[in-house]
Amino acid sequence: MVDECVFCKIRKGEIPSTMLYSDDDFMIIKDINPQAKIHLIAVPTVHAPYIDMMTEEGAVLLGKIMSKISHMQEELGITNGYRLIINQGEDAGQTVGHVHIHILGGEKLKEF
Ligand code: 5GP
Ligand code: ZN
Repeated sequence: MVDECVFCKIRKGEIPSTMLYSDDDFMIIKDINPQAKIHLIAVPTVHAPYIDMMTEEGAVLLGKIMSKISHMQEELGITNGYRLIINQGEDAGQTVGHVHIHILGGEKLKEF
């Protein structure tokens, strides 16, 4: 639910975060529990719980966000490469029900 959503609360300023970027479409915040030297999360403004529930419009937005990330490598500190991850559902370990893209980098990432 939007009212209980951690990322919607961060967007509204109800929960503090380190925000690196925001515009009408999305925000980029530091992950509170980093899994790499640089671990950011790109969060669309619109609350859609799961990627498999996304509309066509939402899919276009995700593409736009990924394109913007690719043009922000310098300011995000990921010029040497980065990994984008979207977790969908329980098996993937999705814990926040608001679609988001993990951005990992700042070091040589483990292969998987
Ligand atoms: P998921 O597991 O759903 O793919 O990713 C959720 C991410 O949100 C996790 O990596 C978790 O550390 C991060 N997270 C959860 N709560 C907060 C919070 O209050 N602030 C920030 N900055 N990140 C959070
Ligand atoms: Zn939300």
